[in-house]
Amino acid sequence: MSSPRFFSRSAFDRGRLPRPAEYFDAAGIKLSAAGTWRNALCPFHDDHHPSLRVRIETGAFRCMTCGANGSDVLAFHMRRHGLTFIEAAKALGAWEGRR
Ligand SMILES: [Zn+2]
Repeated sequence: MSSPRFFSRSAFDRGRLPRPAEYFDAAGIKLSAAGTWRNALCPFHDDHHPSLRVRIETGAFRCMTCGANGSDVLAFHMRRHGLTFIEAAKALGAWEGRR
């Protein structure tokens, strides 16, 4: 008798997430040009002075005004578009297999 499978194989592949620089560019978020932490206008509140900080290697972000934050482009995409983890992973091409 084979052992029951409690977990289906996870289809999330973090390695397929877009690189943060490419993601934010495609998302229309203009990042300041240099440094590890880039500044941008925050899309999560009515921002007129760049208060969103983005760590370019990882996509981690934090807004110094409204407090929006997350650890990668997936978290950013979920928050910006109101998606679940799986929906965002699919939208970013990092989810494979069956729904
Ligand atoms: Zn903000």
